[in-house]
Amino acid sequence: MGDAAGKAAPIVLIGGGHAHVEVVRKLRAAELGCEVLLVSPSACAPYSGMLPGYVAGQYGFEDFHIDLARLCTRSGVSFLMTTATAIDVEQMHVTLADGRVLSYSRLSIDIGSTPILPSGVTGGIAVKPIASFTERLARLDQMHSRTGGGRLAVVGQGVAGVEMAFALQKRFGRRVEVMLVGRADRPIADRSVSAQAKVLAELRQVGIAHHPRFDVQAFENGELVARDGRTVAVHEVVWTTSSGAPTWLRSSGLSLDPAGFIRVDAMLRSLSHPEVFAAGDIASLPDPRPKAGVFAVRQGPILAENLRRSVLKQPLQSYLPQQAWLVLISLADGRAIADKWGISATGRWVAAWKHWNDTRFLDRYRG
Ligand SMILES: Cc1cc2nc3c(=O)[nH]c(=O)nc-3n(C[C@H](O)[C@H](O)[C@H](O)COP(=O)(O)OP(=O)(O)OC[C@H]3O[C@@H](n4cnc5c(N)ncnc54)[C@H](O)[C@@H]3O)c2cc1C
Repeated sequence: MGDAAGKAAPIVLIGGGHAHVEVVRKLRAAELGCEVLLVSPSACAPYSGMLPGYVAGQYGFEDFHIDLARLCTRSGVSFLMTTATAIDVEQMHVTLADGRVLSYSRLSIDIGSTPILPSGVTGGIAVKPIASFTERLARLDQMHSRTGGGRLAVVGQGVAGVEMAFALQKRFGRRVEVMLVGRADRPIADRSVSAQAKVLAELRQVGIAHHPRFDVQAFENGELVARDGRTVAVHEVVWTTSSGAPTWLRSSGLSLDPAGFIRVDAMLRSLSHPEVFAAGDIASLPDPRPKAGVFAVRQGPILAENLRRSVLKQPLQSYLPQQAWLVLISLADGRAIADKWGISATGRWVAAWKHWNDTRFLDRYRG
């Protein structure tokens, strides 16, 4: 746990996700008597809630990013711009893509999740990792300028897919035919019936074709192929399908759930290794919730406090996930849909509320 000089090994934070930005803001390395290190492949962390607004032209790049390097400098946290590639929980060290190996006294993991593509499918553009989506978006812009139009399918009809479909339609206008494709029989299947009806009406209104019960098996020769044999001709595909965990965690020795996510207790602590914590999409909670940023954000303060208490050997706090949570769906035309407690509403005031919520979150991490 310490080096030859008796100095405690650092707290290592892997990933600049929505929970870790709060940890960086709150943890005081001086009080803990050890260094705090953040490992992230990029100096800027995107805020997913505003990505559709960026695609639709409402926001610029800086509007929806947190400058992690600056946040770290302000908080006395060391920033390492690289990726973690392996964890050895027995030796208590992390291997980085640049070859360095870091010992830790506490490890915290907030690395998000990645879309699961149908097996064997490699084409198309995944919306995650969001940090590099802005580069992949250039491919869609090229398709648009090359063909002057095209057919574009967004696969996955959860909140992210629905928002991306509206945002892409707004970006390219009517000359690109945007469609929304998904396995379920309706969009945003885990939200209220009234919100689903509103989404369907808005899709019709802007001319986004909807293909429900379309279980994509392949994307080949300019066609999406469904399990039941249906096909849809498309030039490009954007994947917003359900999320998986990175495979490199499988050799870490950490207890994982069947999908490969890190199993944690109510204190966000690994079930197998109490010096390891996880939050956000990568954490598999005792009382599971959908993979959504709203949970990562709420876990941030608890995670920061529990890392601190763990070092100071104090009792940890429990994280109690909300039973009902608000979803704000941007329609990319200055309006948004709000949905909570089975009640939904549409309007400009909802979009203004969403903008206020999103920018208030980001402002906390700017100085
Ligand atoms: C288009 C879109 C819109 C969405 N809108 C909403 C919304 O309105 N509300 C909502 O609640 N949810 C929304 N979501 C879901 C939301 O994006 C995720 O649930 C949320 O980002 C999860 O946060 P996180 O902290 O787990 O990880 P992330 O925010 O994904 O951050 C993880 C970070 O870890 C880094 N990382 C990954 N691997 C490594 C590694 N090996 N080493 C070091 N760093 C690593 C990544 O670069 C990334 O910056 C949306 C998703 C999408 C795609």
